[in-house]
Amino acid sequence: MKKLSRLCSFALALAFVLPLTAQEDLAPCGTHLGVSPWLRDFQRRIDETPRTDDLLYLPIQVHVVGTDEGSGYFSNKGIMDAFCTLNADFVDANIQFFMPNPVNFIDNSTFYDHTFQQGAAMMIQNNLPNIINCYIVQSPAGNCGYFSPSRDGIALSKGCLAPNDHTWAHEVGHFLSLPHPFFGWEGHDHDYDEPAPNNWGGSLVERLDGSNCAVAADGFCDTAPDYLSFRWSCTSNSTSSIQQTDPNGETFVSDGTLIMSYSNDQCVVGFSDDQISAMRANVEEQRPNLISVPPVLEDIAIENVGQLTVTNPEPGTIVETETVTLEWEPVPNATHYVLQINPFNIFSIIFEEQILEGSSTVVTELREDETYYWRVRPFNAYETCTAFTSPSSFTTGTIVSTNELLAGELLELFPNPTNGDQLQMNLKLNDQQQGQYRIVDATGAVLRSQELSVTNSLQRIELPVQGLPAGMYFVQLVLEDRQIMRKVVIH
Ligand SMILES: [Zn+2]
Repeated sequence: MKKLSRLCSFALALAFVLPLTAQEDLAPCGTHLGVSPWLRDFQRRIDETPRTDDLLYLPIQVHVVGTDEGSGYFSNKGIMDAFCTLNADFVDANIQFFMPNPVNFIDNSTFYDHTFQQGAAMMIQNNLPNIINCYIVQSPAGNCGYFSPSRDGIALSKGCLAPNDHTWAHEVGHFLSLPHPFFGWEGHDHDYDEPAPNNWGGSLVERLDGSNCAVAADGFCDTAPDYLSFRWSCTSNSTSSIQQTDPNGETFVSDGTLIMSYSNDQCVVGFSDDQISAMRANVEEQRPNLISVPPVLEDIAIENVGQLTVTNPEPGTIVETETVTLEWEPVPNATHYVLQINPFNIFSIIFEEQILEGSSTVVTELREDETYYWRVRPFNAYETCTAFTSPSSFTTGTIVSTNELLAGELLELFPNPTNGDQLQMNLKLNDQQQGQYRIVDATGAVLRSQELSVTNSLQRIELPVQGLPAGMYFVQLVLEDRQIMRKVVIH
């Protein structure tokens, strides 16, 4: 039985609405991967090695790391979207990732915001064999992501996994042997108007004429010279605006379409043909243990998903209990669902989110006189590019709940919504007691608080909402034996 506890739901909500670390605050990638002996050998025989064309199924284990208190997790919706983008980025490579196991949640503040050394400990403790281990954390050593060759794991920042980010594909590219096209320039500063030296960082500098493309930088002749080892914005031509000068004095701009470059994600398209050949050969020759029998699963018919066929409760029903069974017609080929339940019909902030096997669940501890909106997003091990259904709703009537108001008690907020000039609370409880009210925002930050002496006669209390920006807030009444929470909207 799944609990829809108010406090628990609130804690979960905090995890989802905390501002994500902006991508700009993090270095693009912490991987400094050279051309491995295997890759160097492959590049020598790339023209004689025919590429196989069968679809490669590669398993991924997603580990989502939160704090010691269990907060800060990347959302299930976020995982679905990011995994969808990852698979889209590998369509041309004919590689299909799938998640054979549920997400592994890890509560560890040290791993949540870790150094490389702590990240290594995380991977030693949690890596599973014969699978690509990916850890989604707050800050992987200050980067959007990195691949650790020695620990054979990938760490990713949840701030760099938006649906249009390609960090995950970039790190999997490293995992499958690819260096940066600017290999050798990592961490180096240079006046790009000056001709580049012949060597940088122990690597030959690639020339524009192609004369050393097979042995310089990343060793791929179909990735053009690129000396930019920092995040850069691309022009409408999908190139860098920064002009660079090769050792011969020839000038050029960088190709922004490559996932393995540091161009910002707007113009990223994919991998070069030779990069794809290398990744596929790397799987077949170096990581054959990853090649899995294709899961017996079909695509989810996305066009059928939009409307949920709810079997219980009927949309708009008024229920008189604090426990409700939600049930819907199974979506063909879906094995799991992300379920979201909100006390308002906006899903940008999520109060309750669960992963379910099967097409029903029981929610408990519902508040009385509240309309709940809920929707589901079907998925299976490799198909996560689905949308949420349109929401259904039900309303709770009078509920006897030990955690809420008792018979004869009253808590009213008005006007609600308010324009922010005033907000009043009518309060009457059965017992006299000391308490406190708090006004908290949608992130859980306490913005106002005041001690209260509650009496058994009706009190009208003026709540100080002046100066609060428009948005959704909660008035929390903290009593000796319970907490009561009410939603307030300032418009
Ligand atoms: Zn990288």
